[in-house]
Amino acid sequence: MINLDNLVRNNVRNLTPYSCARDEFGGREGIFLDANENPYGTLNRYPDPYQKELKSVISTLKNIPAEKIFLGNGSDEIIDLCFRIFCNPGTDKALTFSPTYGMYGVSASANDVEMVRLPLDTDFRIGYEKLIPHLSDNKLKLIIICSPNNPTGNCQDKDVIEKILSSFPGIVLLDEAYIDFTGKPSFKDRIDELPNLIVMQTMSKAFGMASVRVGIAFADPAIISFFNKMKPPYNISTINQKTVLKRLSDISSYRKQVSKIVEERVRLSIEIRKIEVVQKVYPSDANFLLVRFSDADMVYNYLADKGIIVRNRSRAVDNCLRITIGTKRENNILLGALKSIII
Ligand code: PMP
Repeated sequence: MINLDNLVRNNVRNLTPYSCARDEFGGREGIFLDANENPYGTLNRYPDPYQKELKSVISTLKNIPAEKIFLGNGSDEIIDLCFRIFCNPGTDKALTFSPTYGMYGVSASANDVEMVRLPLDTDFRIGYEKLIPHLSDNKLKLIIICSPNNPTGNCQDKDVIEKILSSFPGIVLLDEAYIDFTGKPSFKDRIDELPNLIVMQTMSKAFGMASVRVGIAFADPAIISFFNKMKPPYNISTINQKTVLKRLSDISSYRKQVSKIVEERVRLSIEIRKIEVVQKVYPSDANFLLVRFSDADMVYNYLADKGIIVRNRSRAVDNCLRITIGTKRENNILLGALKSIII
């Protein structure tokens, strides 16, 4: 059993959050002379600080009560808040499994928190044995698991995630940004039994709203209350809240897009495998493929010259490029370009 009060930084526990005008009066009708807004125009009002309407729609969609949901300005804000809430700068540590999403390390550095990086095994799985000595380190406050992982594309074993959750007395942030592209269940439905778990998802990937910047955390209401305490009062603009609401009013198009992307992932993975410069296509549960080439830098530059931009991940995984699944037309252009490379 975790003791949340002990895990939260003293200054956060003792913080009196900013009370904004919309905290003090929650009604929607009236003559609003309380927030020093301009009375003219259509964008003149501050947003709902707790995004009640949007959370209620997300709550129905994800089948999780609204009090167990926090919305961030992208997942990146949620990652940063985890460091700011749970890790004392200059003292505490966080741990993740490399290679993984770069913002965990950037947020750790920005918050002056030491990041322990345990290398994933050769098939990109977490080696639980290597983690054991760290679990009893009382400076270790936060473990971040990315599943499906960026840039490797694979999911971590459910049993290993469960073992970490039950043996670690700190907070586990499980980043499920790419979960909609897998057939595997999310851990979000387990937050009631796992009080140290924060499951993070995003509107940026399957919902196609990366420009809108809305990330979602599912956790015990006690954890959510610390997120709410620490966030800037109006972290999601009204325009962004309304844009997501509009997107969520038509779930069928989201489902169609996800299945098209998954279909293309399967096709692209089969076709890329046949190309001479390709050494390996790693299995993917996400909307991208990690592909190993005989000379990744050369292939990266060749594609870039043709106006095809992929991500060169060869510093993280030897000779690998990360290729996002595009439309069928874009994927065909990529295949044509790869086939035209002469070695
Ligand atoms: N998590 C992972 C694993 C990602 O790969 C990314 C973005 N590439 C994010 C989070 C960021 O998501 P958001 O757009 O919600 O900030």
